[in-house]
Amino acid sequence: MSSFEYHLKEALENISSAGLFRQLRQIDSPQGVHIAVDGQRLLNFSSNDYLGLANHPALCEAAVREVAMFGAGSGASRLISGSLHVHAELEERLAEFKGTQAALTFSSGYSTAIGTLGALLSKNDIIILDKLVHACVVDAARLSGATLRIYRHNDLNDLERILKWADDRTQAGRARPKALIVTESVFSMDGDLAPLQELVRLKNHHGAWLMLDEAHATGVSGRKGAGLARQCDVAEQVEIQMGTLGKALGAAGGYICGSRSLIDLLINRARSFIFSTAPVPAVAGAAIAGITLARSAEGDARREQLWNRVRDLADIINSRDALSTISHSPIQPWIVGDETRAVELADELRAKGIYAPAIRYPSVGRGQARLRFTVSADHTEADLVQLRKTLDEL
Ligand SMILES: *Cc1c(COP(=O)(O)O)cnc(C)c1O
Repeated sequence: MSSFEYHLKEALENISSAGLFRQLRQIDSPQGVHIAVDGQRLLNFSSNDYLGLANHPALCEAAVREVAMFGAGSGASRLISGSLHVHAELEERLAEFKGTQAALTFSSGYSTAIGTLGALLSKNDIIILDKLVHACVVDAARLSGATLRIYRHNDLNDLERILKWADDRTQAGRARPKALIVTESVFSMDGDLAPLQELVRLKNHHGAWLMLDEAHATGVSGRKGAGLARQCDVAEQVEIQMGTLGKALGAAGGYICGSRSLIDLLINRARSFIFSTAPVPAVAGAAIAGITLARSAEGDARREQLWNRVRDLADIINSRDALSTISHSPIQPWIVGDETRAVELADELRAKGIYAPAIRYPSVGRGQARLRFTVSADHTEADLVQLRKTLDEL
């Protein structure tokens, strides 16, 4: 065996012996409440397609229409010759949706975080993250070269301690380092909410800036699905609003909404934007249709249906998991702890026709393995009854 192959095998064995080996599972149907896996029809509680838009006719038709008019590929990065009419329209619609001056889209949420933090921060700055922010923000923070500090999840006292430490650096006579706080509004693996009003008050008091990742709130929370910042009436005070187009909005990609100057700076400095081929017309078209739908009367009806299912799901999981808290989002974890046990439970559920993924390190902390259940507007009450019965049988 070559030394390279030997290295790969050894690394894989280490992953396996920790109960952390992952494999791709092929889905042979469109995304939806029912999915086909290995010839088996499963009731799906794993998707972030909260409004059931990923396979909605309006989005599919919009994608096809864009292909017919503008072709399959986008040809180049946006700054070369790939900035198409559909991208500008999507960004106008996003800015309108979020009530900001401007917006910029990226090919993924991951590359949004990488490009944005890299554009705004350098080694003389301070970045402060909630302990549970998404991996893309952690990677982006490290890559930016800024000094990284982490506060305990949703713990404002801990955040204040770090902000005071940042203030002290000013008093020592140095130029004031910029402090940027990053949190999610709805946390991706726990489904809980950040205390936005208190957080905004605190960051204003210390003159820090806030980047808010609304990946799991956009389309879901607030009037017309505009997000939790709008619902809490703090959107105008959030310097950088981030989110994805690939969850409730049913397409793919990431965005930043904010002031015109913020967007102009990103166009000039965000390397994941500058050095990457523009998203294809079909995906931008689908995202526009997703936003339109989320803001329509049908969007309201879908959100109402979704929140009914959220209550059903919270009821089911809270009756089993003493550690669980009432959920304020479509995400409800059932904390198992042990990695191997979580995978066994997911396998047992799958054998009984239910698909809910075991989430393990590094997506969550070690010993924090869980089954992560999510609901969609397309789930029926009967689907949730089936989930309850199946969990009872485990
Ligand atoms: C999914 C997710 C991202 C990444 O978005 P992609 O478009 O999937 O790359 C970023 N932040 C959070 C909180 C997410 O859940």
